[in-house]
Amino acid sequence: MNKGDIIEVNIEKGIFGGEGLAFVEGKALFVPEAVAGEKVKVEIISTKKDYARGLIKEIIEPSPDRVKPQCEVFELCGGCDYMMIEYKAQLELKKNIVKEIMAKIGKNSECKINDVVSMKEPYLYRNKVIQPLGKKGNKCISGFYKKRSHEIIDNDFCLIQTDLSNKILKKIKEIINNSSISIYDELAHKGYLRNIMVRVNSENEAMLVLVVNGERTKEIEKIIMEIAKAYSNVKSIYLSINKKRTNVVLGEKNILIYGEEGIYEDVEGVRFLITPLSFFQINNIQMKELYKKAVDYISDEMSPIIVDAYSGTGTIASILAKKAKKVYAIEIIDEAVKSGRKSIKLNKIDNVEFLTGTVEEKLIDLINNGTHIDAIVFDPPRKGLESEIINAVSEANIDKIVYVSCNPSTFARDAYLFAQKGYVIGEITPVDMFPHTHHIELVSKILRRNR
Ligand code: SAH
Repeated sequence: MNKGDIIEVNIEKGIFGGEGLAFVEGKALFVPEAVAGEKVKVEIISTKKDYARGLIKEIIEPSPDRVKPQCEVFELCGGCDYMMIEYKAQLELKKNIVKEIMAKIGKNSECKINDVVSMKEPYLYRNKVIQPLGKKGNKCISGFYKKRSHEIIDNDFCLIQTDLSNKILKKIKEIINNSSISIYDELAHKGYLRNIMVRVNSENEAMLVLVVNGERTKEIEKIIMEIAKAYSNVKSIYLSINKKRTNVVLGEKNILIYGEEGIYEDVEGVRFLITPLSFFQINNIQMKELYKKAVDYISDEMSPIIVDAYSGTGTIASILAKKAKKVYAIEIIDEAVKSGRKSIKLNKIDNVEFLTGTVEEKLIDLINNGTHIDAIVFDPPRKGLESEIINAVSEANIDKIVYVSCNPSTFARDAYLFAQKGYVIGEITPVDMFPHTHHIELVSKILRRNR
């Protein structure tokens, strides 16, 4: 296999990350947008020692699961990877990927993996979008970046965002086109307006953040007031000052220019405040399914003292508060803890205690101080848990772990370590948080064997 070769291959399966896998002369060949079971003609675009990558030139025998993507820019845009696969088959694929990763990395082929909790309407679900702005001629454009690049794919109606955020973004572009405001150019690090963030709640209310490379001006304030006037469901608009040459979108200073401090989302009878920097799951409908499952796993028997580790604004902690005597919420970002404290006050919850700091430090402190803990919910970022945490938890003989993960590979690695330390992986439930993309979210129950 050499770069530039055009060959015919059979796609054996879909793999984590979104690509199809074929084998050529014993070497793995990754093919984006290829579906398991189909025969395709590909052009090899790169070769490495152990693997190669090729792009589809022609689909010779399509998989029965292949469908026409509903989005016009699917092939170009880097936002989705699975729109060419029928939704039911996407769910099957995600379940199989979890099974395979658990067998390979988790060294566990026995554990129970439930069907993926699916969405009835798997479109228009993303409650948060951050779009870079760019220019095409004189026109302002916005969209996701093109696959493997920083070129913006202009798109006026993205099928995975909410209807409201699509409409708002379109309106903002219109307003900008009628103004003299300059658009930021990433390469030259020049121009004013960089990005727009739109967050939407289940009541169809929105919060906007306009990210700019410069100070607050009368002109941007005028634009903000125009946007607010155009949509009465825009409840809050911030200006974020970001003058740095960086991929980090929001700047250090976020100034509320219009309306309220944020928007609210109700989950399991608890009302949460969402501000520009606070972490909140991306899919309002599936988030509720995920939390319901996590709460089920925790409270199918008494667990009076619970730790919510990697708590963000304390969503899981606040929901569990009703069923527990005390919940400790551990979170590293001060801003998230502040909004969490506001939320618990608002909901008159008095048995959640936030600890600002790392889980590595604060959880181990709790354990070392002899605090009794019945159960822990872990919801770490992609890199999963440090092994020292797993060691400390097992040495303290904590009975019950609920592990929420956005990365099956690190989850499987950690599940294996828990198993080595005397825990059993009770069951795993994947929840489809991100339809049409390769992302997989799951929740699992891990119990100490000799309780
Ligand atoms: N459970 C929450 C948030 C999960 S996201 C929810 O569902 O809304 C993971 C969170 O872990 C983020 O808020 C991030 O800031 C935090 N985090 C990342 N590394 C951490 C660490 N080492 N210790 C504590 N918190 C951390």
